[in-house]
Amino acid sequence: MADLVIKNGLVLTFEGGTLQGQILTDGAVAIKGNQILEIGATEAIVEKYGGAKRTIDAKGKIVMPGFVATHTHMPYVLGHNMPVDFTQLKSFWDMLQKMGWEWLEDLTTQEGIYAATRYAALKMLKSGTTTVCDLVEAPNDMHGSLDASAKAIDETGIRAQVGYEVTERIPGVSIHDKMDKEMANKGFEENIAFLKKYPPGNGSRIEGRLGVHTAYTNSMETLEKAREIADQFKCGIQIHIAEIPRVFLVEKYGKSAPMVLDEAGLLGSDVVAAHCVDINDEDLDIFSRNQINVAHTPMTNSLGGNGVARITEMLEKNINVTLGHDCFFTLDMADYIRYAYLVHKAHHANPMLLPPFQVLDMVLSSGAKALGLENAIGSLAPGKKADLIIINPDSPTPTGASSVISYFTMTFEGRHVETVVVDGEVVVERGKSTRVDEEEVKAECIKEAKVLWKKNGISV
Ligand SMILES: [Zn+2]
Repeated sequence: MADLVIKNGLVLTFEGGTLQGQILTDGAVAIKGNQILEIGATEAIVEKYGGAKRTIDAKGKIVMPGFVATHTHMPYVLGHNMPVDFTQLKSFWDMLQKMGWEWLEDLTTQEGIYAATRYAALKMLKSGTTTVCDLVEAPNDMHGSLDASAKAIDETGIRAQVGYEVTERIPGVSIHDKMDKEMANKGFEENIAFLKKYPPGNGSRIEGRLGVHTAYTNSMETLEKAREIADQFKCGIQIHIAEIPRVFLVEKYGKSAPMVLDEAGLLGSDVVAAHCVDINDEDLDIFSRNQINVAHTPMTNSLGGNGVARITEMLEKNINVTLGHDCFFTLDMADYIRYAYLVHKAHHANPMLLPPFQVLDMVLSSGAKALGLENAIGSLAPGKKADLIIINPDSPTPTGASSVISYFTMTFEGRHVETVVVDGEVVVERGKSTRVDEEEVKAECIKEAKVLWKKNGISV
């Protein structure tokens, strides 16, 4: 007996990747508990599971796995549209020190994390993202910050891997003047406490993933310790690599960030590395040799004037490329899919680069693989977790088997997502959360944004 049957849909399994997956024009999915029982033609599934507790008719709609965002900072939404003095942001370095650290992270409280994470998770769910990998920073309210994040994640119903960003940076002090290993040790403690509560494979929607800021804000000793802890908890690592100019690391260490991290033994197939922009051929070989997973964040890289990551070359080298987005702009994966689809064509003046299927892979099977969840999410298959979305395509042309892949890069918007199922539970129905009061979530987020903005001298 099934708990839920979704029938009459255009079912896209994406199992084995976008090109390999099945397309069922009148398909159905049977779900029991938090797992997919069976996928097949509607007639066969309905006959077998006709007594399901609940049936959803997806006629004219797309049924597919939810999206995976491999790099987010959900508390960052408190900084959206903050009216700061942008003339102070002349370089990425300014943006990182002022916008990232001074005006946001150093002022972040656990109340802010909770409110912003609820808002961001809700927005992402409603636009089809069912799994995120989130990195939390709150150096002045660190102890317990991951619990605040987990509480919000739990309430909204999204699936998440969460970590605290380990850094030796001292709030209010330039990293050029002084860094402190004790700050990193406190960050490790916060991660470890969380990993003990939410170890990988614990069966719930929430798991820990060790967070590390960068190679240039940590000593070799801290980077080595990160690898030891990741091995001990088998939790993997999330980190930023090469988002700043390569020369910054070379001047400081005589080596690039990938070289420093390689030497520390930190890299491996359990590493999700955000950005990876300013790298040379040798760095690319290090990524390839260590089989790291790249979280491509093209919008943030554009905002910071960092350049365009060498994604097409990474794909040629079989490096696993996924999509992340820092939560700096909208929380709608459609925007990031489309931007990633377009920016490399423009950058290389070559329309043949990154066909739609390759970008879709980034937010489905490749994303799942990066998080070590390839056997659980990223595609629809019997035995996998029931994380799926139903989309009502608002398109001026027919959306069928021959046109549906292009729909995602051309026409898709997150508002087309009608129903979202995570872990077998309908968490969004007819575009609305079934779990939280959306107006209350937004009001609380705005309230916390005002609190943070006020600390920057902004009263609204
Ligand atoms: Zn980041």
